[in-house]
Amino acid sequence: LDAARLVASRVLDVPDFPKPGVVFKDLMPLFADGAAFREVVDRIIAYHGPESFDAVVGMEARGFVVAAAIAYATGVGVVPVRKAGKLPRAVHSASYELEYGEATLEVHQDAFTAGHRVLVVDDVLATGGTAAATLELVERAGGTVAGFTVLLELGFLGGRERLAPRPVHALLTV
Ligand code: IMP
Repeated sequence: LDAARLVASRVLDVPDFPKPGVVFKDLMPLFADGAAFREVVDRIIAYHGPESFDAVVGMEARGFVVAAAIAYATGVGVVPVRKAGKLPRAVHSASYELEYGEATLEVHQDAFTAGHRVLVVDDVLATGGTAAATLELVERAGGTVAGFTVLLELGFLGGRERLAPRPVHALLTV
C-alpha cells in the first residue's frame, strides 16, 4: 500500500462538522492504528530525509501528535505552535482570517537556535491560514523552514497556492 492509499483507507468523512455543509476529515482512525501511524511517520521522515532538520514543529493540536512521533524517531526536539494565550513566556504572535473572525497562533521567542532547520507538520492543510501563520512564526523566532508536510491536503481550498513558493508535501491530496 502506498502512503496515499494508506491515509485514504484510514480517514472518515464526517458531514456537517463543525457546522452544516462542511465535511470534516477525521484522521483519528489513522492515529489509532499503530502500524499505519508508524508507516506514515516513517514516510514523512524518508521524504524529507532524517538529516534535513534539527527540530520539528507541530500545530495545536493534532499536529502535536505527528510532530512528537517524528521528533522521537529522529532524535530531535519538538516545538509546539499554540493557540493564543497558552504559552507561558514571551511569544511571537501571528493572526489570520477565519471565515468568521480571526485566529492567533504563538510560539516562544526563544524556541529555536538561530539557523535551526525546522520541519513543520500538521494533520490537514485546508485554506492554508494555519500553515502560513506557523511558517511566519518559525522564521520570526529565528528558525529556517526545512519543509512543510501534512498527512492530508484538501486541494480544492487552495492552501498550496496560498503558501507558494514554499513547497508543500502531502501524503494524500483530495
Ligand atoms: P486551514 O488553516 O484552513 O488550512 O485549516 C487547517 C487547520 O485546521 C489544521 O490545523 C487542521 O488540523 C484543521 N482542519 C481544517 N479542516 C480540517 C478537517 O477537515 N479535518 C481535520 N482538521 C481540519
